[in-house]
Amino acid sequence: MTEAAATADALPAFPAEVAPERDLFSKFDALIAEREALMATGVRDPFAIVMDEVKSPTLAIIKGKETILLGTYNYMGMTFDPDVIAAGKDALDQFGSGTTGSRVLNGTYSPHKDCEAALKEFYGTEHAMVFSTGYQANLGMISTLAGKGEYIILDADSHASIYDGCALGNAEIVRFRHNSVEDLDKRLGRLPREPGKLVVLEGVYSMLGDIAPLPEMVAVAKKHGCMVLVDEAHGMGFFGPNGRGVYEEQGVEADVDFVVGTFSKSVGTVGGFCVSNHPKFDVMRLVCRPYVFTASLPPSVVATAATSIRKLMHAGEKRAHLWANSKRLHGGLKQMGYTLGTETPQSAIIAVILKDQTQAVALWQSLLEGGLYVNMARPPATPAGTYLLRCSLCAEHSAEQVETILALFKASGQAVGAID
Ligand code: PMP
Repeated sequence: MTEAAATADALPAFPAEVAPERDLFSKFDALIAEREALMATGVRDPFAIVMDEVKSPTLAIIKGKETILLGTYNYMGMTFDPDVIAAGKDALDQFGSGTTGSRVLNGTYSPHKDCEAALKEFYGTEHAMVFSTGYQANLGMISTLAGKGEYIILDADSHASIYDGCALGNAEIVRFRHNSVEDLDKRLGRLPREPGKLVVLEGVYSMLGDIAPLPEMVAVAKKHGCMVLVDEAHGMGFFGPNGRGVYEEQGVEADVDFVVGTFSKSVGTVGGFCVSNHPKFDVMRLVCRPYVFTASLPPSVVATAATSIRKLMHAGEKRAHLWANSKRLHGGLKQMGYTLGTETPQSAIIAVILKDQTQAVALWQSLLEGGLYVNMARPPATPAGTYLLRCSLCAEHSAEQVETILALFKASGQAVGAID
């Protein structure tokens, strides 16, 4: 008998009309207790940081202290770009603060169409569809593309929005081992030939900062007759000659059917999208529930996104500087003896893997007190039960800031015993 069943048996029998209310929060008791125990050790809550002032893409004031930001997704540093801000202000004046409606009813304004035009220019595709967030773009595309009797095949380390897209739809779900071309091939080989299949991949996996071997993955998917969707949330802006993402850098544009992305990272605002050359793509606007049944983005947001996207097309110098930052930080941390998510720098994300939660929180707090903010990540968001500090670099971090970051990692790491 399970514990839950035993508890249910022990409860007194009430007549149905006065049945006792069960506290639906009781299932979170273990998590609440774990957090309380952690807080009792006197650490700051890593999940309750407030930026009181934001001075630039790389500097904020947190609890009165000027702090270098190394835990944002502001890879290309577009949030304070003067043209981006001006476009947002103009749209706010011209179109008001919000649309109060769905894209398919009253919620499509000319800035939404212009933003989709900017995406088509950026990606060189026939079609582009803007969603209210990247999360919703995955939710919508994945749940709608593959239906009952069809298959979604996804990497085990996929982002939560990909898993949630699977949960929202009715397709059969098959997972393969992270970045394993062999496992993908094996699992596809076991599926029936006839039904439609969608393979979902990510260009950059955001927890460890590793990239996917897309040419091999896509070739295997195509061999088995699958359509392919690549989430380029963490690759947009940074990878490829035009900044389209890892799939552009690795030369598989022709074989990728759908690219999903977000405005909340390199673009520097909020929103999500999917681009494609599929001739029937636009039917999605009628059948995709997370697109239809939610309000569209405020016009100021899509206007900032459109301006930012067009500027990212010509951001070669920023990309080069971001790579230089990533290489320097990765090399410096490795030399100090930290265990990193990847052997070599593969993206703008560098994950520092710690022994356990206590060490991760201690290092996180020490860095914060020294004036450096990084993201703390823990299971279930991370693979294989790891606790890690995730550093994400920005093209606006100066070379001097990167040296300061390294000095802080050295001092704090030694202070908490994470390195010698
Ligand atoms: N896909 C991936 C891989 C992500 O990491 C994220 C956000 N971290 C999303 C999608 C969702 O993006 P958004 O913030 O726009 O909802």
